[in-house]
Amino acid sequence: MSLPVTLGDALALAHGRVPASEARLLLREASGERAATIVGFPERPLSDVAAQCFVDWIARREAGEPVAYLLGEREFYGRVFRVSPAVLIPRPDTELLVEQALLHLPDGAPRVLDLGTGSGAIAITIALEAPHAQVSAVDVSAAALSVARENAERLGAQVRWFEGPWCTPVQGEVFDLIASNPPYVAAEDPHLAQGDVRFEPPGALASGPDGLSDIRIITTEAWACLKPGAWLLFEHGYDQGDAVRALMLAAGYTDCVTLKDLGDNDRVTLGRRPV
Ligand code: GLN
Repeated sequence: MSLPVTLGDALALAHGRVPASEARLLLREASGERAATIVGFPERPLSDVAAQCFVDWIARREAGEPVAYLLGEREFYGRVFRVSPAVLIPRPDTELLVEQALLHLPDGAPRVLDLGTGSGAIAITIALEAPHAQVSAVDVSAAALSVARENAERLGAQVRWFEGPWCTPVQGEVFDLIASNPPYVAAEDPHLAQGDVRFEPPGALASGPDGLSDIRIITTEAWACLKPGAWLLFEHGYDQGDAVRALMLAAGYTDCVTLKDLGDNDRVTLGRRPV
């Protein structure tokens, strides 16, 4: 098949294969042209290199690969984060977890921990939005941590990185706030076999028969790593708010509340270790 030679040819080639908004975004990135040029000047020529890149991306997108993995980046909280298939793609829903973490930081130089940091989006955003905080982050995946370190370096954030399962690598340390977006999808959830999540790391998504296995572990382990009065915040599934509050209350946390995301779904639950 011959390569498209203009912007308009390229969009025509993608038509019906991927959504038009994604085709325009991919063409923008492949060609370096601005969005307005792509829409307004279809006769503009496209280099062979850009055309080949675009054609490859359209084929991969048509086969299901997420746009963020094709581009190698995704915006989160107003900043661009590098992503690879080693990490979950940051979701807008997770901005609620960051907002709530920032709202619950005490004054002074609070010690903050992000459990299961992945791309580092949560830890790095907190470090940049709250420069007085001392941020640490844990992930069990060395490949994820190398993406997170690269993001911290590019964005100029100071974060201490630890490799290992949940609280194990920070045993003996205590924090003023722990935030986590752990895996929380039920292992048999048909959602895991559909759409973009098929390409994301299964270990970042699935968590036992009810999706709560990791939240249970963290609820228990985090206790010893929280100062009296310190907050634990989870992102979780739209139908898990009641269960997460019940787990936290049973473990002794107080002031437990669940908050809704922009889609009006239960998304974040927080509670504190009593003073
Ligand atoms: N929100 C993600 C999804 O629905 C799940 C993210 C997670 O498990 N932490 O695919």
